[in-house]
Amino acid sequence: MNPNAVLCRYGELALKGNNRPVFEKQLLKNLRYKLKQELKGLAVKIVQGRVVIQYPDLRAFEDQDMEIMTRLIPFIFGLKSFSFAWWVPSNLEDIEKHLETFFPQALKKFGDQQEITYRMRVRRSYKKFPLSSHDTELYFAEKFLMKYSFLKVNLREAEMDVALEIRDRGTFVSLTKEMCWGGLPSGTGGKGLALLSGGIDSPVACHKMMARGIHLHYLTFHSFPYTDLNLLEKVGKIANSLNQWQKAGMLFACNFASVQRVIRDSCNPRYRTILYRRFMFRIAEKLSHSCKFQALITGDALAQVASQTVVNMSVIDSATSMLVLRPIVSEDKDTVVAHARKIDTFDISNIQCADSCTVFQPDKPITKAKLREVEYQESKLDIDELVLEGIRNIKFVDLKSGELMDQPPRAVKEILGE
Ligand code: ATP
Ligand code: MG
Repeated sequence: MNPNAVLCRYGELALKGNNRPVFEKQLLKNLRYKLKQELKGLAVKIVQGRVVIQYPDLRAFEDQDMEIMTRLIPFIFGLKSFSFAWWVPSNLEDIEKHLETFFPQALKKFGDQQEITYRMRVRRSYKKFPLSSHDTELYFAEKFLMKYSFLKVNLREAEMDVALEIRDRGTFVSLTKEMCWGGLPSGTGGKGLALLSGGIDSPVACHKMMARGIHLHYLTFHSFPYTDLNLLEKVGKIANSLNQWQKAGMLFACNFASVQRVIRDSCNPRYRTILYRRFMFRIAEKLSHSCKFQALITGDALAQVASQTVVNMSVIDSATSMLVLRPIVSEDKDTVVAHARKIDTFDISNIQCADSCTVFQPDKPITKAKLREVEYQESKLDIDELVLEGIRNIKFVDLKSGELMDQPPRAVKEILGE
């Protein structure tokens, strides 16, 4: 018989004080939303500091149910781990019977592995249970270690990670554990707008912020016809991949080419990258005000490329009054790449496409821009008009097809007073 419950453990959320119910409520909402996409009829609730997933009639899961849940649950921020479990009566005989039946089955997946690590942890809130938590652990350790000589106790980390949660109304018996990402439930940290390029860094930056509970939408700048529209398909794939971790965010795409042409024609070429960035921020800010996004997120990493200096970042930031979050600012490239591989964005980012920022790129971009000089360059421009030009060129990317949608976003119409 397959398990008939999933027991999910909290991560950092367990440390929350008075506002913990707010986080728990959002966690449940996110989990229900995610599972509902592929499974119907499951009850998801909180029982004594754990999230429990069961069918209301307590029937055993089908193999396919377990495959789907194994795939979907790890995307839920706020969970540290989960286990499939059998919900059995809280007495020693029933628990033992279940363990004796399912322990050998669970061992099968290790094939003829020479040594399998083992631990058992017991959490007992049912005080009438005849053995203490510790004695229960010893009781079963003796049984299993005698019977299976290849088991080696490892209390820190084990392949056979047996857990008993003995409660008044029943006991959860689980034999293995799957790890989740941790973090905080999506939607508990406000709303942000991520500046998403097709590179490796910005998707990782998005993921790190999402893991802190922020719900993201995305804005990408392209320079059609100077850059290919394939770039949008690629960024769309990245957005889809990131959206697995949250309720789908929208991808705005701004055709930046006309703004770039004006900058090219009016300003010192060495300041182009900085000026592009300042206009990107201004356009992002305007969009954010209309959509009530509370922060901008970028994938800047200090000193990764010549233009990513503290001086440049501060000059770029001064173009906006919004909070700009750069979660990977201190990371080295290897760490970011490892993260990108873990969340499966690396292979998409690795597809080569021309980036919008490289359009009309000078040979020697300025590495230590002086704000006064940048402002002088901008005095040659009609800033408000250029920002509106950027806004006029924003469309949604259809995340199913990777193509631009005809209808302009409502926020754009609002800003333009249409
Ligand atoms: P990434 O790998 O994210 O492209 P990067 O190392 O290439 O980053 P830059 O090209 O200097 O660094 O970009 C720094 C940040 O500026 C990006 O992480 C992203 O947040 C933002 N950005 C750059 N180009 C674009 C773009 N075309 N559209 C949206 N955001 C962009
Ligand atoms: Mg880039």
